[in-house]
Amino acid sequence: MSNFRFQALQAVLDRSIPEIKLPSNKISDYFNSNVFDKQKMKDFLSKDAFQVIVSSIEKSEPIPRDMADQVASAMKAWAISKGATHYTHWFQPLTGTTAEKHDAFFEPTPDGGAIEVFSGDALAQQEPDASSFPSGGLRNTFEARGYTAWDPSSPAFIMGRTLCIPTVFVSYTGEALDYKVPLLKALNALDKAAVDVCHYFDKSIEKVNASLGIEQEYFLVDIALFNARPDLYLTGRTLFGHMSAKNQQLEDHYFGSIPERVYAYMQDLETEALQLGIPLKTRHNEVAPSQFECAPIYEEINLAIDHNQLLMDLMDRVAKRHNFKVLLHEKPYAGVNGSGKHNNWSMITNTGKNLLSPGKTPKNNLMFLTFFVNTIRAVYEHADLLRASIASVNNDHRLGANEAPPAIISIFLGSQLSDVLDEIETSRISKKIKDDALLWQGIPKIPQILKDNTDRNRTSPFAFTGNKFELRAVGSSANSAYPMTILNMIMAEQLKKFKYDVDRILRKGEKKDVAILMVIKRYIKESKNIRFEGNGYSQEWEEEAGARGLSNFKTTPRALDALLAEKSAILFEDTAVFSPREAHARHEVLLESFYKKLQIEARVIGELVINVIIPTAIAYQSNLVENVRGLKDIGLDSGTYAAQLDIISKISEHVNFIKSNVGYMIAERKQANGIEDIREKAIAYDEKVKAFFQPIRYHVDKLEQLIDDSLWPLPKFRELLFIK
Ligand code: ADP
Ligand code: MG
Repeated sequence: MSNFRFQALQAVLDRSIPEIKLPSNKISDYFNSNVFDKQKMKDFLSKDAFQVIVSSIEKSEPIPRDMADQVASAMKAWAISKGATHYTHWFQPLTGTTAEKHDAFFEPTPDGGAIEVFSGDALAQQEPDASSFPSGGLRNTFEARGYTAWDPSSPAFIMGRTLCIPTVFVSYTGEALDYKVPLLKALNALDKAAVDVCHYFDKSIEKVNASLGIEQEYFLVDIALFNARPDLYLTGRTLFGHMSAKNQQLEDHYFGSIPERVYAYMQDLETEALQLGIPLKTRHNEVAPSQFECAPIYEEINLAIDHNQLLMDLMDRVAKRHNFKVLLHEKPYAGVNGSGKHNNWSMITNTGKNLLSPGKTPKNNLMFLTFFVNTIRAVYEHADLLRASIASVNNDHRLGANEAPPAIISIFLGSQLSDVLDEIETSRISKKIKDDALLWQGIPKIPQILKDNTDRNRTSPFAFTGNKFELRAVGSSANSAYPMTILNMIMAEQLKKFKYDVDRILRKGEKKDVAILMVIKRYIKESKNIRFEGNGYSQEWEEEAGARGLSNFKTTPRALDALLAEKSAILFEDTAVFSPREAHARHEVLLESFYKKLQIEARVIGELVINVIIPTAIAYQSNLVENVRGLKDIGLDSGTYAAQLDIISKISEHVNFIKSNVGYMIAERKQANGIEDIREKAIAYDEKVKAFFQPIRYHVDKLEQLIDDSLWPLPKFRELLFIK
């Protein structure tokens, strides 16, 4: 094993940097080349068919069944012309990754020949025998069928030699088994509610889409070093490892020049991503050593999420060619920053107006304020649900760890907009104002270009950044669909309430703008407690948030309770996003994944400690004992080997502590495994089993510092973080 570490280090030293050939000097030459986009549809479909399809997609209506055959045959012709041999429905089960099952186009004919076949049926629907995907009890194993059905709003693409068709995944009884179905439902609810509210201002608006730009953080590590760390390849994070003498304290990595090998990887990744229509635009180093970020230009939200899922998959595939491993885990290395996935969100109308962008005229500003304040009110009302939507065993390491936003949900607005809201709250715009001119004076002026002071507040989980809100608490490995389903759903419900509140005042004969402003003013007052401009990492904030009555769920099992709260049930029903059965199922799936991941980590800790760490410690201790015996034999007094004796006894202390605590941890695990109730089981894993991880690690890391470097079997932090 110890050889393994040095073999790995040798392998890294021998690496060369692959040469990257770009398909063309102009990105526009190859952007979307592997996507069956509108242009290709136009080329491969009849004019009539093309128009029917485009209009169905634009109106989010199902594609007429008789058109499916035409589309399928066009897709097949295009895919085959690109060298594809297989097709697959590509979907997002609750495992968090994407799933695919490839079928060949090829079909034998009775005369012994073969043809390439792809029917409308095969495009529209498939039945993967999906009994081994998590369903939270929605699909009994004897009714193993689940359906995948084409989502025409996200275009098909070619990955390798396979045509991938984005689909939803539902159970035989119609319940959602994936991330996409609830998202599409939430977006639909948002569209309706937002259009209704838009009509107070502009009757020509017909559709509101949410937009999303996802910043993706990740670590890179050499594949050989990765493979020499069983904890990394089994759990995605290091369970032991003493901090490297140098880490991120010099702040010399962030935005620094990108190492050559990484640069080659990024170029390769970007080329593939751009061909798949993922509009990657930004790349840079992140705060921790070996940590990086990439970000695309924002897109319609359903597509942005598909693209992020695809990107994560692609990052991993491309990394193999560069002998890298991508770590998407939220906290691969204790002691340096973890990784997140900032979700930049806004709402944009079919007329091209960003509803979170302040306008030139007072009327536009009233429209902006309407959507702005409703977002604040929505998050205030359902902060617990938003917290639940980002909860995972990995993210528990990150939230509140002085690098990522705290587990307390609050909203940062920046001083300019805070002042605007304060002004409205205390102003006396009221029913008495009948004169338009006076009313508009009641709306404070909003500068069109808002100073972006967000970089000075990286501590907020939900920040307004000029013309969008940024949910920063999402974990790097998460599927954004889940938090975005919640965000769009709570926004939909909130906008419905707003309309109800405004209409009620209108019925009393009040003027429209006055009514809107009155409701806005009330919302500002009611949701004030969620606003926080200060340092989210500070102890004072935790105390103040407590005094304000804001929740602070530090770990997942209790954070997830919000999914089953009465308030959430009403919301789910109102917006028709989750049925009660689906909500329960999701709760169960999330708890199950939580405790199972801790179970795996606990096992890996046990195995590594007993089979790798302790034997190494004892081997070194035996060397020392031998040495002491020799010194004694030649007649030296004990003063000459005092240091050796000291190390020998320290090793024993650490080994004894580790060995006995692994025993206690296993006992707690056995107990937890016996608990029937899944929530109680997850809590037991969180509070009883996980409690041993840190103390055991502390002593393992002490051993790492004591023992001869040439014997230590696991690549050290300095090697994982700095050698490329
Ligand atoms: P930063 O947040 O670091 O200031 P940017 O302004 O470049 O960075 O934006 C980060 C992400 O937000 C990018 O993906 C960008 O395309 C996206 N973004 C910008 N404007 C919007 C918007 N109106 N809606 C959604 N995402 C947006
Ligand atoms: Mg950002």
